[in-house]
Amino acid sequence: MSETEVFGEKSSDTFDVVIVGAGFAGLYMLYRMRELGFSSRVFEAGSGVGGTWYWNRYPGARCDVNSMEYSYQFSDDLQQEWEWTERFPTQPEILRYADHVADRFDLRRDIQFNTRVTAASFNDEAGVWIITTDDGAEVSSKFCITAMGCLSEPNFPKFRNIDAFDGPIYHTGRWPHEEVDFTGQRVAVIGTGSSGIQAIPVIAEQAEHLYVFQRTASYSIPARNAPLDPEFVRETKANYAEVRKRVRQTVQGMLTRFNPASALEVTPEERQREYESRWVLGGFGFMAAFADLLSDERANDTAAEFVRGKIRETVKDPDVAEALLPRNIIGAKRLCIDTDYYATFNRPNVTLVDVNDSPIERMTRDGIVTKGEEYRVDSIVFATGFDAITGALLKVDIRGRGGVKLRDKWIKGPRAYLGLATTDFPNLFMITGPGSPSVLSNVIVSIEQHVDWIGECLQYMRNHGATRIEPRQTAEDDWITHVNEVADASLRSKVGSWYDGANIPGKARIFMPYIGGLPEYAEKCADIAAHGYEGFVLS
Ligand code: FAD
Ligand code: NAP
Repeated sequence: MSETEVFGEKSSDTFDVVIVGAGFAGLYMLYRMRELGFSSRVFEAGSGVGGTWYWNRYPGARCDVNSMEYSYQFSDDLQQEWEWTERFPTQPEILRYADHVADRFDLRRDIQFNTRVTAASFNDEAGVWIITTDDGAEVSSKFCITAMGCLSEPNFPKFRNIDAFDGPIYHTGRWPHEEVDFTGQRVAVIGTGSSGIQAIPVIAEQAEHLYVFQRTASYSIPARNAPLDPEFVRETKANYAEVRKRVRQTVQGMLTRFNPASALEVTPEERQREYESRWVLGGFGFMAAFADLLSDERANDTAAEFVRGKIRETVKDPDVAEALLPRNIIGAKRLCIDTDYYATFNRPNVTLVDVNDSPIERMTRDGIVTKGEEYRVDSIVFATGFDAITGALLKVDIRGRGGVKLRDKWIKGPRAYLGLATTDFPNLFMITGPGSPSVLSNVIVSIEQHVDWIGECLQYMRNHGATRIEPRQTAEDDWITHVNEVADASLRSKVGSWYDGANIPGKARIFMPYIGGLPEYAEKCADIAAHGYEGFVLS
């Protein structure tokens, strides 16, 4: 069969590849597909590109990874010409960057916006995916690639009587496009994860009064955000290839000063000095202070106690400080990075409401009721997170060979080979799927690695006349066993979080991302490809 008979199809409703989502994953996937000569169509539920940075427009939203690293590396021209302004860029700046990428590479003409994919079904006989969208249209494609995001399906807890509330309810992950003005208002924020911790200090400055509903106290490290030093930018750009290479060699895809020492081997004074220097520097580097912070609970507790000490120092009211002290393993739930979060509780217009012991019981017309108390507010902000990693995927009715439903296959938790593909679902690829490093890394680095791997795989198939690819059951099972083993060895899996589905009532509990680190994972993927896609059946 010639290449053109198998690939290169393009009519108004038939494509080589359908990509779902136009965040950073979908945009780069489209770019690569074009470059390789595959006809593609992207469907995007939103009205613009950017994914996370399109939806999460809440006050204070910004990146936690250095901008010079949280950006694409596939085009040197792009990375040379784009000027980041801050160490941790704001949501509007990152969205401008996504828009720039879409325009610069003329990507929009293959993206259909305001269109949600509702179903994807593999037709075994024809060997194509039939993709259904919410406007009732159907297209067919040889490959279906999901780029739907690990944190794109908001979690709206089902509080009793929620419809009774008279004022606006916002979710950080579905923030309106127009500015929300809280001036003169009493506002409730529910949730103190990364989103809440970023939004709370900014809302507090505007609102007449802010009530923060906290169920679990989080550990947060100061961001120490600042304008980028022009000399640092110049140097990074002059050595970008080398910088990116170093980034790819780190476990999490970001440059931090890793200390190989154990926290338990040094003197208390040395330990304090190390933590202090990282606290002053700000950001994720805090957890790289010692090698055993995520493997030894006693080591972990030294870091946890250091942060608790900082909270006690910062928050003037001892009762409020006590309520803000996180008690679990630091770094098990995703570490938060903040600007003035703890100090915000010194403001006279901010009240911490501890809903751990007295949960939110219901909403009323005027506000929120916890055990025995009603908080009257004008607006409510849900900073309650996401149905992470599998939420967006399982919202789509995905059916594979013989009509098998992904929702059924994953009922006890997601199963995928390398987080890239899953048995019974031929020619379906997932970017940053469950079982890949995804959210445990600088996600753009993970995205680029996945996209490049998928692109090379499709090229290989075209060159070898293969039209179908699917993981072997044994390869998938072995990978899942490995993912679980690595997770079990880490303290991260000892605390329920959105990493393991604990944040969604009734969701299967399994640690979803791969903890083994980016270099090991990327090497494994490359090795599998080099051996003719070991663990996959190609036909
Ligand atoms: P997304 O950006 O989530 O894009 C997925 C797209 O798919 C969305 O536009 C969505 O509308 C679309 N979609 C989903 N389902 C469908 C469907 N059925 N039909 C059509 N379209 C669909 N990562 C970091 O590495 N560093 C950070 O500092 C960082 N900060 C973050 C801050 C916030 C507030 C959040 C929520 C996440 C953050 N992340 C961060 C993770 C972030 O999600 C990734 O960095 C990255 O943006 C993910 O890109 P993506 O393209 O994979 O997914
Ligand atoms: P999250 O970390 O899951 O936090 C959700 C918060 O809502 C938690 O405090 C949770 O409490 C609370 N909550 C949920 N249901 C509740 C209920 N029924 N009653 C009371 N409280 C409830 O979500 P997120 O803050 O949106 O962050 C999700 C992820 O997105 C982050 O971990 C991070 O990866 C990414 N993110 C990154 C950045 C950044 O890098 N700049 C910013 C924002 C988000 P419990 O802990 O008790 O469940």
